[in-house]
Amino acid sequence: MKYIDLHTDALTKEGVRSVTKETLARGGCALECFACFTPRGDLGKTLKLCDKFQKMCLDEGFRQVKRGGNLAGEGMLAMLTVEGGEAVGGDLGNLRFLHEKGVRMLTLVWNFDNDLGTSHTTSERERGLTPFGRAAVELMGELGMIADISHGSDALFFDVAAWSKRTGIPFVASHSNARACREHTRNLSDGEIRTLADCGGVMGLNFYDKFLAADRSCEGQKAAMIAHMTHILKVGGEDVLAFGSDFDGCPQNAYMKTAADMPRLLFEMEKVFPHRVVEKVAYGNAARVIQSVLDEKN
Ligand SMILES: [Zn+2]
Repeated sequence: MKYIDLHTDALTKEGVRSVTKETLARGGCALECFACFTPRGDLGKTLKLCDKFQKMCLDEGFRQVKRGGNLAGEGMLAMLTVEGGEAVGGDLGNLRFLHEKGVRMLTLVWNFDNDLGTSHTTSERERGLTPFGRAAVELMGELGMIADISHGSDALFFDVAAWSKRTGIPFVASHSNARACREHTRNLSDGEIRTLADCGGVMGLNFYDKFLAADRSCEGQKAAMIAHMTHILKVGGEDVLAFGSDFDGCPQNAYMKTAADMPRLLFEMEKVFPHRVVEKVAYGNAARVIQSVLDEKN
């Protein structure tokens, strides 16, 4: 079964990366989202990673997603994303430039507050988007760039959700799990999952073991993935869940070691969820959001 993955850090992986055309093909991947991860970085570092992405697409034969219509057709797709709003450097002109370079999703913050807004680690629980962050999200809507609130604070989540409700433009949590199953600020509360569903957005199941369960064994992780998915589908409905593996950005999961292992997860999902729902989680939900945000403007 084909699937979309909303987040990998393969572009910044030191040494050998697990996400390659070959492992993705074995897994059945239709579209991988490659993040330029630049913590405390700047536009220059991000642009180097954009170049690395372009070279990888040429060398390995990925077709780059720039508009929703690109999802149709042959070949494996790759979408360029940026993790951490530092790349924008407090200048909306840079955001336009990143869009011109092909960036189609921006994770607004990483593990510390920045000039767009507050992180899940923040000490300022009441504050979400900054005025600049609000302007950036508005511009992203105009450009056709997906707003990603993974790593964001709860206040940031609800600020972006308010913008989404006002504009009708969906947003995502590209790699975040359910807080009710595993208490962690990186995971979403039930209220957030419901709100995200109301906005027509998606959350990508993250395979980082510490965000899934205390039991890091193969069996423990398999059970935790099914438990998180069961909960998210119950709370948010069948249109809100997708995948956001975090491959090459987190320690190797004992159950899902590489993208080539995706069929074993999909096989387990088929045992507990209707086939229609498995197809939506694997592909349809993420495709819906990518197409609706990108198709408007690109
Ligand atoms: Zn991340």
